[in-house]
Amino acid sequence: METYVVPRTFARAMAEEKRRPIVLVPTMGALHAGHGELIKAARKKAGRKGCVVVSIFVNPTQFGPSEDYQRYPRPWKKDRTLCQQLGADVVFRPKSDAMYAADHSIYIEESSLSTGLCGASRPGHFRGVCTVVAQLFHLSHADWAVFGEKDYQQLAIIQRMVRDLHMPVQILATPTVREPDGLAMSSRNRFLSPEERVNAPAIRMALLALAGSAAGVSPAKAEVRLHKQLAQIPGALVDYASIVDASTLQAVQKFDRPTVALVAVRIGETRLIDNIPLPW
Ligand code: AMP
Repeated sequence: METYVVPRTFARAMAEEKRRPIVLVPTMGALHAGHGELIKAARKKAGRKGCVVVSIFVNPTQFGPSEDYQRYPRPWKKDRTLCQQLGADVVFRPKSDAMYAADHSIYIEESSLSTGLCGASRPGHFRGVCTVVAQLFHLSHADWAVFGEKDYQQLAIIQRMVRDLHMPVQILATPTVREPDGLAMSSRNRFLSPEERVNAPAIRMALLALAGSAAGVSPAKAEVRLHKQLAQIPGALVDYASIVDASTLQAVQKFDRPTVALVAVRIGETRLIDNIPLPW
């Protein structure tokens, strides 16, 4: 497995890469079994002849000033071992000042899908995500890139960016990987205290209850119910609990099309997100 840290060197190596397809898995590291499934999906898509690239980069531009950029975990040795075990061919692990010049001034901004949900509570977050993902697509010469459905809004925005900017890469989406008790795996779960960890699966339970009971009520009522249930989790502060059109991410009046419920809940200091498609 090759590891690159310098963007220009990485880009040159990838331009000369003969193995095809090149399948990129963008991550911020602190890899868990959820990332593992993305890497496995990439390996499957690449086949024996292709090239699986995992990028590990804690992207500063997607963190707000009061967010956890500094304390975001960076267990490089563990990450490297996992990438190797799962059959990655290349790891790209740049430093932040190599990705962003001190006077970096070009950003990519999505202006519709990113206005609500996490975009509303994390101003600038998706601008940072789009900008770094575009850089990674560019540098890696990826034919495919793999993203998790756990970050549903991010996935929708990346798909929109690829479409609108005619980027020559195809997106592969993979299902959310969960702990046995239903909690969506996340690099941030390690910040939960033992008590918070016990309470956190209630997020998934609330979503499952919603999916089982949404039929027969309006989306607005179902949202209120979901919000109430989430607010009852000890130590929880609900950032949002929304039912939206699965493709436009806009609010819906009726369950007359594919919808998805998305939530962000702060448990103690840790902000967790999850989502579930709703029957219609
Ligand atoms: P992150 O390192 O958190 O930025 O995530 C990198 C990629 O892994 C994104 O495409 C995420 O959607 C995906 N991912 C993170 N957690 C999970 C999970 N529990 N299941 C599936 N994919 C995930």
